[in-house]
Amino acid sequence: MSDFSLALNEDQITLRDWVHGFALDVMRPAGQEWDEREETPWPIIQEAAKVGIYSLDFFASAMADPTGLTMVLTLEEMAWGDAGLCMSIMGSTLALAAIMANGTPEQQAEWIPVCFGTPDDVKVSAFGVSEPDAGSDVSSLRTRAVYDEATDEWVLDGTKTWITNGGIAAVHVIVASVDPALGSRGQASFVIPEGTAGLRMGQKFKKMGIRASHTAEVVLEGCRVPGRCLLGGKERLDERLARAREGVRTSGQAAMATFEATRPYVGAQAVGIARAACDYALDYAKERRQFGRAIIENQSIAFKLADMRTRTDAARLLVWRAAWMALNRQPFLAGEGSQSKLFASETAVHVTEEAIQILGGYGYVRDYPVERWHRDSKIYTIFEGTSEIQRLIISRAISGVHIR
Ligand SMILES: Cc1cc2nc3c(=O)[nH]c(=O)nc-3n(C[C@H](O)[C@H](O)[C@H](O)COP(=O)(O)OP(=O)(O)OC[C@H]3O[C@@H](n4cnc5c(N)ncnc54)[C@H](O)[C@@H]3O)c2cc1C
Repeated sequence: MSDFSLALNEDQITLRDWVHGFALDVMRPAGQEWDEREETPWPIIQEAAKVGIYSLDFFASAMADPTGLTMVLTLEEMAWGDAGLCMSIMGSTLALAAIMANGTPEQQAEWIPVCFGTPDDVKVSAFGVSEPDAGSDVSSLRTRAVYDEATDEWVLDGTKTWITNGGIAAVHVIVASVDPALGSRGQASFVIPEGTAGLRMGQKFKKMGIRASHTAEVVLEGCRVPGRCLLGGKERLDERLARAREGVRTSGQAAMATFEATRPYVGAQAVGIARAACDYALDYAKERRQFGRAIIENQSIAFKLADMRTRTDAARLLVWRAAWMALNRQPFLAGEGSQSKLFASETAVHVTEEAIQILGGYGYVRDYPVERWHRDSKIYTIFEGTSEIQRLIISRAISGVHIR
């Protein structure tokens, strides 16, 4: 017998079933309503906090799980329940990951609890990189952070766009340029606590999918934060900038460190949506009768379901591998994090479209959930690096060639 196993252990099965119960009982019944309302579902977030899925303890135990599977199992189940609600509850993960990846232990201890609030006064957090003129090209951020030595404060100015929880977060982690001449190597991440003057919400966006999740612009105008809000601290930043100015290659690019760690999490959500569509379309195909037989008896429908299931299961394996590698600090030498996000997101789009086809006209109307799942799935090929950017990362990693 080898040590290799893909079987979940008892704790993992218990965790998965517990989260599945929440997804089935709380999220599924509420998904359509919050999609229509297009508002942050605070009561559902609070419910997740009360049962302990959205909590500091849960996050800490997920980060300490050496198999890496706690977070991806949780996210798959929650997105199976409803992707928009999942993003509202777990959209804070990016900011948390940024604090984990770039913050000192003291900063992690100070800010991570603030991101969650308490079950009675639940809070969310936001991670702001994207700007109107800097989406895929994060090296060209225009938001500036200038150090005011007299007061030991950083002053931030700029506009962030498409920010999940932007303007409603207890903690905004904002990536800004400290030295624009250095491109992405001249950037740093800053914590902006709630109530800081000079940070305000701009436009709130109306979206195609994941409509329960709040997405907005964040405007920074002379926004001052104490020196201790620079993640990693000034000494480390100064050393990093000095090395970059000497032309030494540094790995410490703030935004990328965060995205690397969270790509399997994005993939896991896409797997959850795909699985929801597979399950639903399979049940439907067994029930729906045309020409005197269940439509699943037609190979064209049955083979679609076979392909849908195969792709979804393959996506899950890529996600599990990447999650395990990330938590065990195995370098993504072949872009494994990107592979998981790329394949899972494109699978979710494909599988949900196939589910609509299997349901026919019923798939196209809002009385049935598959059209919502298709709308929800599309964002996974766009945010946290588009599919094209994932292909760039993978092709560069496997070839060593600077593919453009
Ligand atoms: C709902 C939602 C939530 C979001 N949440 C956040 C958040 O919380 N925080 C945050 O910082 N950002 C967030 N984003 C922003 C998201 O990460 C960006 O939209 C994404 O990175 C793409 O940037 P862009 O929209 O500017 O597209 P562009 O970068 O302008 O890309 C347009 C097209 O060109 C392609 N392209 C660009 N460059 C290349 C290239 N070199 N090679 C090949 N193709 C290329 C892209 O793949 C895409 O197809 C969110 C976006 C949405 C819609």
